[in-house]
Parts: sequence; structure tokens; C-alpha cells
Amino acid sequence: MRKIWNFASYNLLSLFSPPIGQEYWHCDMKRGFIKAKKRDPEVKALLEQDTTPQAIGLLAQQGVYEFHHDPLMLYRKDAIEKISATISLSQQSKIVQKRVTKVLENYHNHPFLLGKNIIQLNRGDEGFPKPILINYDNYTFNLYAAIDCIFKESDGTIHILDFKTGKSDFDRRQAYIYLLAAKYLYPKHEAVASFYNLETEVSSNVITATSNQLKAMLKQLIKISKKHQSQLKYYWRNKQEFNQIFPPNPGLPCRYCPFNSICEFSTIEVSA
Ligand code: SF4
Repeated sequence: MRKIWNFASYNLLSLFSPPIGQEYWHCDMKRGFIKAKKRDPEVKALLEQDTTPQAIGLLAQQGVYEFHHDPLMLYRKDAIEKISATISLSQQSKIVQKRVTKVLENYHNHPFLLGKNIIQLNRGDEGFPKPILINYDNYTFNLYAAIDCIFKESDGTIHILDFKTGKSDFDRRQAYIYLLAAKYLYPKHEAVASFYNLETEVSSNVITATSNQLKAMLKQLIKISKKHQSQLKYYWRNKQEFNQIFPPNPGLPCRYCPFNSICEFSTIEVSA
């Protein structure tokens, strides 16, 4: 079968246009580093390091997985110690240990998924999700939707749940991408999506989408997928134009940018 390179995902969408309220952190050059220069050794090394928020998100999800992997774990008094050992929490920084332990305590006290008809619960470290091949308007692409959890409501509705950590708001566009994925994965079922923050224990509203809203999201994904592919192709032929293809936005975005140690436009002084 012919290999399809065209793709779209929530990650790609957020690299093109940040969620509402996070516009100040946007920089196109980050997408350039992540997608175009990802095999350059110094970029690759940076991409392989988990940032503190990434480590917390991943370990929190692994913790939830472990609570449900062994059906008796939720009832064990030493569940937090057991799971902390399973996910090697002691090898993490103090801040990661503290915040993930709080997640485990929260979840032990209020197991959000208890009693739900879970169809799929991921650990979060499975790698790339299986792509969903979509052909629309003469454009074929792979949609990647990394789904944390799927459960079935009592009326048969498919419920896609995304776990969050940290303070960022829920992004409705991500829910629409999950619902688009559900349309292909579960074509005979109604689907809804929601978010649950494992640190604050706050749930979003249950999000639904009309077929017009899904179509609009599909078109938006195709638009960014096409633009991304054409920029990548141009970059491969004109590597010296990296700065023009992926323009920098120095200033505030550099503060938490993973590339501020190697980016010539960074406004952050990195100690040697
Ligand atoms: S260091 Fe600043 S300018 Fe460079 S990629 Fe990061 S955010 Fe953009």
C-alpha cells in the first residue's frame, strides 16, 4: 500500500494556532524545530527530554492506568506506594514526585472512572496512536488522535475522555478532533468528549459536535496539513531559509521554549 505522509493531529493544530488564551506563547519556529529539524542531533536530544509538565502528565496517566489495571488496586491501603514504585516515581525530580503523588492521592480518594464501562485506557507511553486514514475532497491524510480513555455510557454513547494536568484550559478544538476520530472508529455510535484534570479534579462539560462542526474541523485539519507539508517540502530544498519558513517570535514565548538553548533568536540567556 502506498505510504501516506500527509497527516494532521491536535498537536500539529496547536503548533499552527495556539488555544485561546495562549496566543502569547506562540512561535512558528518551534514547529520548525519540532517537525523540520527533529533529526538534527541537538534538536533530537532536546526533544527526547521530557519537560516537567510532560513528565507530570505522563506519570499521572500511568498512575490512573495502574489503578485500573489491577481491579483490587483501588481498594488497597498501600496503593500509592505500590503505584509510585511501578512508575518509578522516585527517579523523578522533587516537583514531579510531589505533584504526581498528589494526583495519585486524589485519584485514590475519588476514582473518576470507577463503575464506568471502560473500553480503552492507555498508559500514555504507547507511542504514536494508530492513524485513521481519511480521504476528503481529494486529499488523503492520516489523522492521529492520541486518546487517553474511552468508555461506553449506559445508552451506548461512546465517551472519549482526555486527562489533563497543570493549569491550562480545556481546548474545545481537541474535543472536536476526538469526535472526528470517533466518527471513523465508531461510525454506528453517538459520541461525546470531555476533559478531566487529575490535579484539580475539575471536569469539563460534556462536549458534542454537529456534523457541520465536524466538517469544519476536518477542513481546518486538511488546510494545516497541506500547508505543513508544502512548508516541509520547501524547507528540504531550501534549508537556509528556515527562519523565513518558520519565523521566530522572540520574547515571552522563549521563556518556556525547549529550544531556547539553541535558538539564535532566543531572548533568554542560557548559562553555559
Ligand atoms: S527560543 Fe524563542 S524565538 Fe526561538 S523557537 Fe523558541 S520561542 Fe521561538
